[in-house]
Amino acid sequence: MPYPAVGPRVLLRRLREVMAEQETAQEKLDRIAALVASNVVAEVCSIYVRDDRDELQLFATEGLRREAVHRARLKVGEGLVGTIARSAEVLNLSDAQAHPAFRYLPETGEEIYSSFLGVPILRSGRVTGVLVVQNRRPRHYSEEEEEALQTTAMVLAEFLASPEFLSELAAHGEKKSRRLHLRGEGLNAGVALGQVVLHQPKVVIRNFVADDIEAEIARLNAALEDLRAHVDELISTTGLSNQGEHAEIFETVRMFANDRGWVRKIEDAIRHGLSAEAAVERVQSDNRARMLRQPDPYLRERMHDLDDLANRLLRILTGQTGTAAQGDLPRDSIVVARSMGPAELLDYERAKLRGLVLEAAGAGSHVAIVARALEIPVIGQVDYITDQVENGDAIILDGRTGDVHVRPNPDIRQAYAEKVRLYARRQARFTRLRGQPAITRDGVRVSLNINAGLLVDLPHLEDSGADGIGLYRTELQFMMTRALPMREEQERHYRAVMKAAGDKPVVFRTLDVGSDKVVPYFKTEREENPAMGWRAIRMGLDRPALLKAQVRALLSAAAGEVLHVMFPMVTDVDEFLQARKMVESQLEVMRLMGKPVPRRVKTGAMVEVPALIFQLEGLVRHVDFLSVGSNDLMQFLFAADRSNPRLAHRFDPLHPAMVRALDTIARACRDAATPVSLCGEMAGSPLDAMILIGLGYTSLSMAPAAVGPVKAMTRTLDRGKLARALRSWLDNGGTSLREKAAVFARDNGVKLYSR
Ligand code: PEP
Ligand code: MG
Repeated sequence: MPYPAVGPRVLLRRLREVMAEQETAQEKLDRIAALVASNVVAEVCSIYVRDDRDELQLFATEGLRREAVHRARLKVGEGLVGTIARSAEVLNLSDAQAHPAFRYLPETGEEIYSSFLGVPILRSGRVTGVLVVQNRRPRHYSEEEEEALQTTAMVLAEFLASPEFLSELAAHGEKKSRRLHLRGEGLNAGVALGQVVLHQPKVVIRNFVADDIEAEIARLNAALEDLRAHVDELISTTGLSNQGEHAEIFETVRMFANDRGWVRKIEDAIRHGLSAEAAVERVQSDNRARMLRQPDPYLRERMHDLDDLANRLLRILTGQTGTAAQGDLPRDSIVVARSMGPAELLDYERAKLRGLVLEAAGAGSHVAIVARALEIPVIGQVDYITDQVENGDAIILDGRTGDVHVRPNPDIRQAYAEKVRLYARRQARFTRLRGQPAITRDGVRVSLNINAGLLVDLPHLEDSGADGIGLYRTELQFMMTRALPMREEQERHYRAVMKAAGDKPVVFRTLDVGSDKVVPYFKTEREENPAMGWRAIRMGLDRPALLKAQVRALLSAAAGEVLHVMFPMVTDVDEFLQARKMVESQLEVMRLMGKPVPRRVKTGAMVEVPALIFQLEGLVRHVDFLSVGSNDLMQFLFAADRSNPRLAHRFDPLHPAMVRALDTIARACRDAATPVSLCGEMAGSPLDAMILIGLGYTSLSMAPAAVGPVKAMTRTLDRGKLARALRSWLDNGGTSLREKAAVFARDNGVKLYSR
């Protein structure tokens, strides 16, 4: 009666002995085929490997004709072996030739074999090969035999990914270079060519076999304890446990961490002779294969959560807990991660970092904000990329289009290398403009400033040739740390910013948290509409201690200098007056205490809430300056959530409604001689900035990379001519001024370069 000749533990040990031999990769595979055949008492055992052409190549066999090795190939989906490769599922057949997918390969001589058992060789959820046994006599293979084959497949999976085997594969004319084209959302423009660096490198399992089952189960339990504690800590420290969608995700994670079914499967694998880490990997691999084929996005997401947990468990068990930032980086690193916190990104050596690809993360995510500050191209929402790439894979990303090419062919590589050269040439042109002022052809001087929020932003002030920092988002420092930064820490930070800016002005915006800007240690109530909720200056006035501490830090940091402070989300004049009063009283306290104070303090308000447009007359009498936050102003004017990707392109900042609102603000400020600037995203688009200058804005603040293109536009613009045209466009209505503006630019030689 056919039954495994030896138990799985003995088989594993023998496999390990084979692996340790001083033999070529081919010899090892031949020996494994022979070993499995005798173990399962089969006449045939064959190992098929998925090659560069995405075909399953017969790589080793015991029982089939030797001449067929490296010649017999099946496409994915073709024949029984191809069917297993496509479905990632086991096929156990007593009459293989009766199966509709059966395909006869004459070179192998397999027509005499009736029964067939094939299992996928899975690595990270991808089928990298198929392991098959066959017998002449019709028979159904037992569960133990399936188990033996699966165990062997797991060991083979590691071997097929080893450098030792990959060079063997290359010697057979096939490089492991399956091309992959993925798409995500471009979060920061730019093109990067380099090699994959997995933020969390794949765990390497060195010990597959264990003799002491109880000891392995005890190791597993201890690791599960750690895992559960980690999940609980995550839930409590993020403070997100009571926030709708987050709560649901965390609950799912907690549920998996305590799921008996999952744990039992791992324990079963240990009882079959695997070490705890090999058992976790084995169960995880099956889950991944199902995940990649799961059509329902919700279920797929949940399987993804489980995969994350299994990964963490593996790291705990093997002690491999660091990220790639701690190791030696290649010169052209493109970091690929599921998700990442902003501080983790800053751990990487900037000089070697070329780009970032994330599975999670949208445009407003903190890590994307930091990546923009580092000026590296970023693509987010690239589903399952970490499952499909390996460290060292060639990779290209285009942050403008969201395209990611993995293991690209030479043509694509060439095309992108050309793009990089073009980009560099264009940047060189902007560099030449750096020392030139932004003056229109008819002599209007425009002040171009940068938006910043981190110390890594500061060198851009010099590089871009900007006139100053028009918006310093102070909340970024708060978002980066796990605990509230103390007043002294804030002061040090602001002082460093002012020092780096030298004579150039910096406009500090007080804390704008709430809405999508989550600060982990502020536990706030769940809100239905957080963007219109308790945020920014509203929070600052209701909880004055925090704002007071920040104002004090700013006043001290600017001792002897001119300090510009502005308040976000001001909705009525009284809010501004209260905030200004707070600044004045802190100043007074400092004077009384004999502390050094700024030479001058200028206070301003952001115009982000439409209600403020109807109070401009009163407001301009009190403020030293205004700054239009066009991102929020757009969102509230059009009632369109700025972080909802479905609405991202629905309303145009050059819609007459928005342009009229901007016109009203510009006029009110002109009449009162109040300085006004604009610091939303539109300031960084040359065409939008052209319209702003046409409306009379002479100060703009934007991402550093936009300064060059906007300056080039300004220097080729006749502002007077545009202002006249703009009047007639506004009088005639229409849906957007974009097309008219583009025609004007073209006909009048205004240079519009993209970033
Ligand atoms: C804005 O709303 O336009 C703005 C500049 O502020 P933030 O993008 O930080 O909300
Ligand atoms: Mg805003």
